Amino acid sequence: MRVLRSPVDAIGSALLPACCTLCGSPLPRLSSIPICNACWTEIPPQTGIVCLRCGDSLDAPVVEGIEASYVCRACRVSPPPFAKAVSFAAYDGRLREAIHALKYGRLHPAAKKLGTMLAEAMARLMPDAPQEMLVVPVPLHRTKHRQRGFNQARALALGAIERLRHTHPDWKLRLAPSTLMRLRATETQAGLTPTQRRKNVRGAFKVSHPAVVRGQHVLLVDDILTTGATARAAAQSLIKAGAASVYVATLARARRFNSNVSPAHAARDAQSAFADMHSSSSSHQPAS
Ligand SMILES: [Zn+2]
Ligand SMILES: [Zn+2]
Repeated sequence: MRVLRSPVDAIGSALLPACCTLCGSPLPRLSSIPICNACWTEIPPQTGIVCLRCGDSLDAPVVEGIEASYVCRACRVSPPPFAKAVSFAAYDGRLREAIHALKYGRLHPAAKKLGTMLAEAMARLMPDAPQEMLVVPVPLHRTKHRQRGFNQARALALGAIERLRHTHPDWKLRLAPSTLMRLRATETQAGLTPTQRRKNVRGAFKVSHPAVVRGQHVLLVDDILTTGATARAAAQSLIKAGAASVYVATLARARRFNSNVSPAHAARDAQSAFADMHSSSSSHQPAS
């Protein structure tokens, strides 16, 4: 006869698979999160050189000592309305599978653990980020919300805030989950070019209660950032509603391009960035 350790285990074993959702290997013990430890360790944090504004990884060699050479071409050509975007890891491998499982398999318990990873990304904003921030999850359109049953960005934000309450108790983060609305059920962004993505989300967001946002520093949270088109559109509407600043944190970062930048091209880019930085005082104006 099998003896169950606790009623919670009994419920867990009834609801959750005994195998890892990602790799299929048997789980050593009942867990509220059906993902094995080996799979979690296969999600390494982002390393390497990243753009100071949008967090995209930079292939280009950086010109030592020139800060502007750490800003990617897209951010230089059209500076984003947000101050800075950070991500925990590349949207790849196990993280990609875990996010997929969370979104489409309703793997809700995983949101807490994935939220701790998002918290790590958020903490990277700490040196510059304001002490008090309003955390706004990127909303789903109500049709999609109804289909999915929950907003993964909100679930991740909750997990992250809970974690940061322990690791950074002085950082005042307040969740404002229904401040931003998605007005249009935009087409899925997958397979669209950066320009198509921008068009697709233009005017897609609206702030429901501008008084909540006015004068506040906002930390916009989402699961994945690709071209940044969604983050730009959402940040734009928050700033229009009076937000003092907008920062962005996502769990994963997808590569914007399959970039193949020649070293000569990259060096030229870095030099023109340096020239831009020293000739323009309005480089932080959002481009429309
Ligand atoms: Zn596994
Ligand atoms: Zn950038």
